[in-house]
Amino acid sequence: MMSDSTRTQAISAIASLPVGGASESAPVSIDYYGADVFSTEVMKKYLPKDTAKTLLATIQDGLPLNADIAADVAHAMKQWALERGATHYTHWFQPMTGSTAEKHDSFLDPKGMEPIMSFSGKNLIVSEPDASSFPSGGLRCTFEARGYTAWDPTSPAFIKRHGNGATLCIPTAYCSYTGDALDKKTPLLRSRQALGNAVKKLMKSFGLPDEHVTITLGPEQEYFLIDKNFYLNRPDLVQTGRTLFGAPPAKHQQLEDHYFGSIKPRILNFMSDVEQELWRLGIPAKTRHNEVAPAQFELAPLFEDVNLAIDHNMLVMEVLRQQASKHGLVCLLHEKPFAGVNGSGKHNNWSISYGNKNLLDPGSDPQQNAIFLTVLTAIIEAVDKHSDLLRNSVASAGNDHRLGANEAPPAIISIFLGAQLNEVIENMINGSSGCGKRNDTLKIGVDTLPVLPRDATDRNRTSPFAFTGNKFEFRAPGSSQSCAGPMMTLNTIVAESLDSLAEELSSFAPETFLPQLQETLKRRISEHKRIIFNGDNYSEEWVKEAERRGLPNLKNTMTALHTLVNEKNVALFEKYGVFSRRELESRFEIFLEEYHRRIRIEGRLSWEMAATIILPALRNEYGQTVAALSRALEARRTNGTAALQKLADKLGDALDSIVSDLDTLETALTSCHEDILAAMSRLRTSVDAAETLVNDRSWPLPKYREMLFIY
Ligand code: ADP
Ligand code: MG
Repeated sequence: MMSDSTRTQAISAIASLPVGGASESAPVSIDYYGADVFSTEVMKKYLPKDTAKTLLATIQDGLPLNADIAADVAHAMKQWALERGATHYTHWFQPMTGSTAEKHDSFLDPKGMEPIMSFSGKNLIVSEPDASSFPSGGLRCTFEARGYTAWDPTSPAFIKRHGNGATLCIPTAYCSYTGDALDKKTPLLRSRQALGNAVKKLMKSFGLPDEHVTITLGPEQEYFLIDKNFYLNRPDLVQTGRTLFGAPPAKHQQLEDHYFGSIKPRILNFMSDVEQELWRLGIPAKTRHNEVAPAQFELAPLFEDVNLAIDHNMLVMEVLRQQASKHGLVCLLHEKPFAGVNGSGKHNNWSISYGNKNLLDPGSDPQQNAIFLTVLTAIIEAVDKHSDLLRNSVASAGNDHRLGANEAPPAIISIFLGAQLNEVIENMINGSSGCGKRNDTLKIGVDTLPVLPRDATDRNRTSPFAFTGNKFEFRAPGSSQSCAGPMMTLNTIVAESLDSLAEELSSFAPETFLPQLQETLKRRISEHKRIIFNGDNYSEEWVKEAERRGLPNLKNTMTALHTLVNEKNVALFEKYGVFSRRELESRFEIFLEEYHRRIRIEGRLSWEMAATIILPALRNEYGQTVAALSRALEARRTNGTAALQKLADKLGDALDSIVSDLDTLETALTSCHEDILAAMSRLRTSVDAAETLVNDRSWPLPKYREMLFIY
């Protein structure tokens, strides 16, 4: 693969880059923020007044889409897009591959030589991509392979630029002829509606007027950057997104000198270009910093409506990849590109707003506090009842290297509340602090609830689901995955417990509302408080304690996946209209198949790289060492032969074990995923040991100390 000269060439190519990297950025000015978005302001400008009003009602108040306005909207969108240089449009959707999909059509509809550009209401509302090759888990038999994309007016259309061209992208949901969801957006939208309805019902039981509900998400995106010269010489990164081999470097993250360190100019230039691109798309990229592992970084946007935030995160991942390439870098979004250093996650910061009030903001007045505690109780109940589903929503071959692997959050789902809030909860359960003396204020919790200064909540970095002052942070999602699955799950399980609370509350008489509420919350929290854990989630004691509490410990993808289709979960999703049984079963199929395929690809590539890249290098080294040894013995030399003998033995042993591990892997490839994983891991140990024996100049793959540090 990479001979001595190509490895040195790669390094010198990187060394000779200008200080700022491959391309220098233009100065930043942000009058272009949102310039490529068909935003509310654009709608008002390009649409007849009434049409704009109707459309905005759909977007802002969640009213059903009025099909009559489609022609007007299509016309305005076309006009706007043409003025911005777009020649094509596409329905942009999120099939079960986990990526986004698009099939472009030009606006061109010529009459003779006259280049008429057309885009009808129908073009906007629905399209039928010939999409028979997307995973459907059996939902579309081949004889009825049609899939339809339908316009999602709640996520604004945008323009994607590429070289001289530009394409109008219309966010859409994707479903089958029979209306079954074939994508990630449809169930997310259904869950958003279910949770919205439950929140409204709850607020009604508190006697509050009807307001708009917004589910909010701020996803923090972690990623690695390495130089493209190295990447192209690592078939494992190219094909699987992670290194299948690589000995640990002497220095990795022990000195903790990368986290929040000063950002190198080349990376900073890349980041500025990413942000400019994102800002054009109206994506509020806010925070950037070096992460814990070497060559690891983070980008966090401001939170938005969950549907929009998810679409935006899909675009963030795309822009990161594209801009990296422009800068001679490669952005690795895999959960664990490098063994032995931290992997990458995507913390999902989630909350619920009612009108303009964040329901997870512990307030200062009694009613606000009562609502906060009610919502908090619902979340505790939901996570305890369905921790299996949350775990399921983050299960993937890539994430298996993080969850439960002694870093990032563990596989056991629990809630971190922080000392202050925990005390409030404890007081509620124990009934201390004057519970129920008067009816006019809610005593439990309320009187004792300390004013929570936001940043006073402890920073527990080990919990998978942590309260962080005014939101929950779900930390288990993987860096490469769509947030749609985890958010859909969270919305649905919380919808269920809020709905059941609201049901109960609506039977309370107004005179006894508060004491009754108090009793209800107390009962529900006591029932579910086993899910709360404020200690160190990485510790061995917690694993034992969690087992004692009866909390599920779903250690890997295979065990986690099966929970999706148990009767309890099917009933939940059916009740809240998020999935039918058929849809759930099809998803289970898809996840299972994807997992097995990924493991098999990794297994085959491990075998191939070890057999065709590592072994030849090792044989060569062994041959040379043995030849040198026999020459020394022939010359009857007394010094040096023992050392040569020792090295030849070590290299010989390494050869033997790699050859034997290759045989084991070859057999495992005809067997199940567990055998493949075990055989790959043995082979890796042998190869990584060989890496430390072979002459550095002859090692055929870029090493960790190069990829992670030279950029
Ligand atoms: P951290 O200290 O956890 O790294 P960051 O500032 O990197 O925090 O990210 C926090 C994220 O949480 C941001 O995306 C922020 O917009 C988001 N966030 C803040 N408030 C809310 C909220 N009410 N709902 C959802 N997300 C929120
Ligand atoms: Mg952060």
